[in-house]
Amino acid sequence: MEKKVWHSHYPEEIATSMSYDEQPLHAFLEKSAEKYAEKKAIHFMGKELTFAEVFSQSKKMASYMQSLGLQKGDRVAIMLPNCPQAVISYYGALMAGAIVVQTNPLYKERELEYQLNDSGATFIVCLDILLPRVTSVRGNTLLKHTIVTGIKDYLPFPKNLIYPFIQKKEYNMVVKVEPSEETHVWQSIMDQSSETYQKVDVNPKEDLALLQYTGGTTGHPKGVMLTHYNLVSNVQMCDAWLYKTKAGQETVLGVLPFFHVYGMTTVMNISIMAGSKMVLLPKFNPEDVLKTIQKQKPTLFPGAPTIYVGILNHPNLNKYDLSSIEACISGSAPLPIEVQEQFEKITGGNLVEGYGLTESSPVTHSNFVWSKRVNGSVGVPWPDTDSKIFNMENSEEATIGEVGEIAVKGPQIMKGYWNNQEETDNVLKDGWLLTGDLGYMDEDGYFYIVDRKKDMIIAGGYNIYPREVEEVIYEYEGIQEAVVAGIPDPYRGETVKAYVVLKEGYDITEDELNEYCRKQLAAYKVPKIYEFRDELPKTAVGKILRRKLVDEEKEKQLQS
Ligand code: AMP
Repeated sequence: MEKKVWHSHYPEEIATSMSYDEQPLHAFLEKSAEKYAEKKAIHFMGKELTFAEVFSQSKKMASYMQSLGLQKGDRVAIMLPNCPQAVISYYGALMAGAIVVQTNPLYKERELEYQLNDSGATFIVCLDILLPRVTSVRGNTLLKHTIVTGIKDYLPFPKNLIYPFIQKKEYNMVVKVEPSEETHVWQSIMDQSSETYQKVDVNPKEDLALLQYTGGTTGHPKGVMLTHYNLVSNVQMCDAWLYKTKAGQETVLGVLPFFHVYGMTTVMNISIMAGSKMVLLPKFNPEDVLKTIQKQKPTLFPGAPTIYVGILNHPNLNKYDLSSIEACISGSAPLPIEVQEQFEKITGGNLVEGYGLTESSPVTHSNFVWSKRVNGSVGVPWPDTDSKIFNMENSEEATIGEVGEIAVKGPQIMKGYWNNQEETDNVLKDGWLLTGDLGYMDEDGYFYIVDRKKDMIIAGGYNIYPREVEEVIYEYEGIQEAVVAGIPDPYRGETVKAYVVLKEGYDITEDELNEYCRKQLAAYKVPKIYEFRDELPKTAVGKILRRKLVDEEKEKQLQS
């Protein structure tokens, strides 16, 4: 039985059930370009683009991709930080009929190659400084076309701009891009391509808009298949939730990366739908965020706990005027109540906690922004979203207050994992998505997350799957056993720690192992701490007890 007790708590202004536009996701841009043509859609470090300009450039991108032979359903990888090109290439690719594959710009070669091969991407749009990475793997993939862009395509190169994903020595690197049949330059596309593209028929409930990679509950990276309807419905739910906001009048701070589904939905897609101006930041830096808020006066600021904590800890916080902020939703990790209260005090706005995951486009629960909220809870399920707790012992529905696995059902739930029926069947049961998160529901229908069944680590808002890091450590010669765990960290929530046992006769230092990991993994996945041990705690059948190591660590921290 599905419990819907939470509906009694909905403010009158929010419908418990809505109808969603059965349209392709990119129809939002088409409509806004008509309705808000001359309004600003994007602000990027001083440069502004109107809705009409974003639409015009997206059409050129769609037309150009089609002229290179792109067909409906082909996969287009986008490897960009937040910048105008991230929005334009996303909408352009969708308009051309493609499925977008978001690629983290922090990915190192092995991670990139895996994702390109798994998705079968034939196009990639990347930043010029990332081109060497793409070039080094392209021979091992199905890539046919690389579209290269630079920050300079929209701005004179800002001297002090520091990308989070390049080495210091690369800061001043001038990347010379030689156009060829396979390599295409953004600026020439914008200068020369026509806006006429072939409109593609989209069946919104069946056709995919996005393959979004995640480790899910098992840690093995896989593409979450999100349809146009999944994304459209989640954006429209988000808009309904924020019912006090005014169409065409809001400014949204875009510091959450668009290559993750959270920023994509709650900043990019909703801004395009609602005619809001999005202020893009390619990297989270507290000082830049503070300056940007004071100058650009965003009203909405979706974020993650580490972002709010980073701002609150800035030494000159009090010098800035943050009073434009009206509503913030925090997701991806637990939001400490103290952080919520302090942030609300300095901004005068409301900061509420929500919850979701890639498999659900992503938002499924949140507290009300302008109505009842329960601190420490992730709130109630969104309109048309059902949620219940599966009892851990017999998979029956749990009773109020009983901890079990959280399950969700609604129009935003994925179609499945790309080319992976087995994993799909493990998490999708009769339309219910098993989230791998443990929690309970109180008698008012508010949900609480208490733990994770899955091994995922959340450090500074990034998800890290131990298995992926362990595989890299095991490759290093002389490693007998390794286990990676998330241990408590006051700032990052959790931090990655590796426990390693060496084979006899080997003498490996922390620095050596760390250097190897840095070469193989995006920086945020690299362990911050290594501990060498003679043995690791195991179950009777030999499974390493990761949880025991975390408990030991918690105990140690309590005593110190
Ligand atoms: P992702 O698929 O990258 O969006 O990660 C989703 C996961 O982030 C969820 O399954 C949860 O484990 C975690 N998560 C999201 N929101 C919260 C929250 N408010 N509190 C605790 N964990 C969260």
